Amino acid sequence: MKIAFHGAARTVTGSKHLITLKNGKKILLDCGMFQGMGKATIPLNNDLGFDASTVDVMVLSHAHIDHSGLIPKLVKEGYRGKIYCTPATKDLTGVLLEDSAHIQENDVRYVNKKRAAEGQPYVQPLYTLDDAKKATERLTEVKYNEWKTIEQGVELLFTDAGHIIGSACVHLRITDNGKTESLTFSGDIGRYRDIILRSPDIFPQADYIIMESTYGNSLHEMQFTTPNHLLEWVERTCVQKKGKLIIPAFSVGRTQEILFALNQLELENRLPKVDYFLDSPLSIEATDIIKSYPQYFNKTIQKVLEKDNDPFKFPGLKYIQSVDQSKMLNFRNEPCVIISASGMAEAGRVKHHISNNVENSRNAILMTGYCEPNSLGARLQTGAKEVGIFGVAHEVHAEIGAIRSMSAHGDYEDMSQWLACQNPKEVKRLFLVHGEYDVQQDFKSRLVKRFCRC
Ligand SMILES: [Zn+2]
Repeated sequence: MKIAFHGAARTVTGSKHLITLKNGKKILLDCGMFQGMGKATIPLNNDLGFDASTVDVMVLSHAHIDHSGLIPKLVKEGYRGKIYCTPATKDLTGVLLEDSAHIQENDVRYVNKKRAAEGQPYVQPLYTLDDAKKATERLTEVKYNEWKTIEQGVELLFTDAGHIIGSACVHLRITDNGKTESLTFSGDIGRYRDIILRSPDIFPQADYIIMESTYGNSLHEMQFTTPNHLLEWVERTCVQKKGKLIIPAFSVGRTQEILFALNQLELENRLPKVDYFLDSPLSIEATDIIKSYPQYFNKTIQKVLEKDNDPFKFPGLKYIQSVDQSKMLNFRNEPCVIISASGMAEAGRVKHHISNNVENSRNAILMTGYCEPNSLGARLQTGAKEVGIFGVAHEVHAEIGAIRSMSAHGDYEDMSQWLACQNPKEVKRLFLVHGEYDVQQDFKSRLVKRFCRC
């Protein structure tokens, strides 16, 4: 077999790996969108790098847009097969792709207004809501830990990756030209001792492993410190400075961890009495889906569920659905906490909240996840004195911070633990993907003693 890496190669977005068997069959692992890569983002997303109509079958590791975001484009360009994923991934991907289509259509509308004024021809969105709906019809459920034949000579097994609800590591048993080989694709690997999810599961011995490496050079702070960190920020920003605390958060995963941590503080009577807003219809919908899969929760949250039937909701938390309600938050003078998407602050309502609040030193912006180096979130984190948002320059006076304990990706200890179920002598090759080049070199040097063929 041959493997071509069409994304997440020496970078962390655009996950897309195409396997071509000797008999000509093509299997696509993920079809993710590139995000936060500045001017390179649009051309990278405009070209899949292969002919979609020649792909025979696709497997999706999890719902995050950097793994699923170009599925509507794949279908639009002629893919006619099934897309295998877990039941929770199917539900989450449906809402994330529809949201992504809205973003594509809105962005193009804005760009075309400008182009019309300059007498230039219109551009088309990457895909529309209709494309997204057609694509989600192809999502086909496979449960964890059940082998399934997805193509002649190709069997699939999902194991829990512990990264977000429904996330899976993908294992393929492929018989090609009379020879059977196994390939494992890690998807995104979660953490052992996550505050909500189960730990990543062990998996069958593989001949080839494609493995993520996002945090291959770092160790995270322990997650049980998250509620205390959040409390410090709420107290300093909202109680002492009477300002607004803006928290950009991924709709799936991070938002629920923040809500869970704030709920913990509330249960312990430690949560300051200010208003808390979840300003993202997508995050609200994702939270409802996640709540519908309690069987994927770990023992810690199962215990909380015994005394609190909604561990993501607490008094003082308000959901913001409409754009008008969201805009009203700009006119508030009272201190508050606003949790909104997207996590890298590249799109969504949080971008408006940052543009409205970044110039006031009473306020704070608290990053809670990985940010691509060119994204607005990364520019703020690296200490930019001025940032451009929607074409307008803003001086940065708000306090900028980050909580490092909240990553949904494992650190190098977690990733090494994930690999520990494998006999290194039987692994013919280990490919590192989904990481920046320097980080991968560092991770490779850590792994080299055990896996010398990466
Ligand atoms: Zn992910």
